[in-house]
Amino acid sequence: MKKKLIIFDMDGTIYLGSNLIDGALSTFNYLKENNIEYVFFTNNSSHDLDFYYEKMKNFGIDCSLEHNFYSSTEVTISYLKDRGVKDIYVVGNECLKKKLRKEFNLITKYEKNRKIDAVVTGFSTELVYDELKDACLYLETQEIPLIATNGDYRCPIEDGLYIPDCGGMCEWIRLCTGKVATVLGKPNPEIIYYLAKKFNVALDEVLVVGDRLYTDILVGVNAKVDSLCVLSGESSLEDVKNYEHQPTYILDSIKSLPDLLK
Ligand SMILES: [Mg+2]
Repeated sequence: MKKKLIIFDMDGTIYLGSNLIDGALSTFNYLKENNIEYVFFTNNSSHDLDFYYEKMKNFGIDCSLEHNFYSSTEVTISYLKDRGVKDIYVVGNECLKKKLRKEFNLITKYEKNRKIDAVVTGFSTELVYDELKDACLYLETQEIPLIATNGDYRCPIEDGLYIPDCGGMCEWIRLCTGKVATVLGKPNPEIIYYLAKKFNVALDEVLVVGDRLYTDILVGVNAKVDSLCVLSGESSLEDVKNYEHQPTYILDSIKSLPDLLK
């Protein structure tokens, strides 16, 4: 398999919590030596990209913040700007709000006669009840969209455990308001098109690597690029076999990715 650009998921693919997946470092050294471009894309909007950059650098992986890191926050900003959105209510961490505040007018509480353009949700580890309440009140009383940075229901952490993610929050809002979120980030194929163009490679030269079927593998299917499912995170081999879309490749972990690329 010849590839020029590999788009990696991080959580569950390269590391689990604070533990690097065994063999990951030698895989990135192989990619570097063979001039295969790699980028890290995360659906997780609860951290700044420099959080991931520091994490990868501390693992010893060769990377630069500007060149190798992308998140669903950037995709969300571009989507909202394209649609002329100005006033938004945000449920998300301060780092997401900080980036959105540079581009949009952030409304901080529900007011009866205040018109807004959209409610935006991100993976929030700083969630408070009033945020969900105000978001629901806006969605209940105005014909506005609910835009989610990502649709992951849960995020894997150490010891095989999971914590609630943005998709789970959106389900909570859907049950309360009937509004279904427009989900950006993976599996929306826009991010693949964007990166292929940025790195000037054809879609058949791209490989998407991840541990989650309904985001990492589905984004590959949606964008019609090859995908590799690693079994080091959320999905078991049984999960993969039972899923309606099959990845192009399956490996236990990215440790043996160089063998696929030879
Ligand atoms: Mg993952």
